[in-house]
Amino acid sequence: MKIAVVGAGVVGIATAYELAADGHTVTVFDKSAAACEEASFANSGLVAPSMQLPFAFPSEKGNATMRFLDTGRRLTRSPWSALQEIKSLWRWTHPHGPDTHAKQYASAQQLGRYSAERLQYVIERSQIEIERSEGQLVLVRTEQALQRLQPTLDALKTQDIACKVLSPEEARKQEPSLHSEAPFHAALWLPGDKVANCRQFALELKTVTQKMGVNYQFGADVQDLNLQPRPTLTVANSQGTEVVTADHVVLCTNRAPRHLLLKHPLNIPMVELHGYVLSVAVREPLNAPRSAVHDLHGNLVINRLGNRIRVSAGAELGPKPETKNAKVVNAMYRALELYFPGAANYPAGTQVWHGTRHTIADGLPAIGPSGLPHLSLNIGHGACGWTWACGSARLLADQIAGRLAAMTMDPMLPTRFLR
Ligand SMILES: Cc1cc2nc3c(=O)[nH]c(=O)nc-3n(C[C@H](O)[C@H](O)[C@H](O)COP(=O)(O)OP(=O)(O)OC[C@H]3O[C@@H](n4cnc5c(N)ncnc54)[C@H](O)[C@@H]3O)c2cc1C
Repeated sequence: MKIAVVGAGVVGIATAYELAADGHTVTVFDKSAAACEEASFANSGLVAPSMQLPFAFPSEKGNATMRFLDTGRRLTRSPWSALQEIKSLWRWTHPHGPDTHAKQYASAQQLGRYSAERLQYVIERSQIEIERSEGQLVLVRTEQALQRLQPTLDALKTQDIACKVLSPEEARKQEPSLHSEAPFHAALWLPGDKVANCRQFALELKTVTQKMGVNYQFGADVQDLNLQPRPTLTVANSQGTEVVTADHVVLCTNRAPRHLLLKHPLNIPMVELHGYVLSVAVREPLNAPRSAVHDLHGNLVINRLGNRIRVSAGAELGPKPETKNAKVVNAMYRALELYFPGAANYPAGTQVWHGTRHTIADGLPAIGPSGLPHLSLNIGHGACGWTWACGSARLLADQIAGRLAAMTMDPMLPTRFLR
């Protein structure tokens, strides 16, 4: 089939790879000037089947009201000042009843595990070299906080995801540079999680797909989509506007583009959560983290990517602010000095990236047939898009081919939002 993929982030490129591997003729359209200019640009790089990623899911405390208030308290910009933000927060926290939450979490972990295997397969098969390291250490401040994690530990066990509770001494064997005064009571060691450079992988894979015949068009904004009798896309580019036909269209646009889906009976409830990633050069490798260190209390991750350290933090609901939140940015610098003093060389290169997690209200992505002819979706990966990219891409390609999927897709089908 002739397939048009819209979006050249990590999800779009992984999807193009799997579709081309199945023998389809693939063209990828992206409105940006290059690949991975949006959410896949500088994320924190965790590939975490454990789902221990900041803001992957809202708080799971108590009833709906408790979850709503507790999640609101953890955001780094108060959601209480604007009605729209309160509505978004309500939408995000409301469907997560304890039972629903457990099921969604289990689906997320399954997809994470499948995806990590698929990532490894693609790396080996395509002989891609990327910066990566193994394991995530989750720091827990108090005994009470550790006890509150019991449901998480049970869920990891049910999913066969390896996790070990470590004392501070044991944790320092995994991360020898962790400062002696770092405030934590215990740590979870998740050996199956990884840190890997998302953008580097996607750009390398793009080259691989080009050799497989995939065509990329950048500066190509898909402005309209008609599906009947045959899909046509209206694409605006530097030459003007052109109409392109295809046999099938796959949206990998991260968000659910209203203007493309308006005419169609799909209403996907999305929540936008903006966050920050600080990247700095390593000054002294001996003082830098080996892999990922996650401060659960501060909702903050510090990790190592080659000769850089990345710190990610922050969650802001609502419209993306023009200016960066100085309080969050300062907290990232402070955390780096608290946990890994002397590791960073600030003058040698420092970047603060402000990105957006486009999250579907129930925490799972929308992967598969849209319920409309010739249109599939692979969107809404929220805080886990790098973790889920390679698995989602393969699952989607299998569905298009009419093959049996490697896992139960029902909770992730876009048709759950047919109105
Ligand atoms: C602060 C932060 C930290 C994160 N950390 C992690 C992490 O540690 N681990 C993890 O798994 N995930 C993480 N994520 C999430 C992850 O980065 C995203 O889920 C993932 O990059 C989404 O990839 P994507 O390809 O779907 O979207 P994108 O990379 O945003 O790509 C979508 C593309 O679609 C294009 N597009 C949209 N509309 C159109 C149109 N109409 N026409 C043409 N092109 C269009 C855009 O230009 C864009 O290039 C993090 C996100 C943030 C913000």
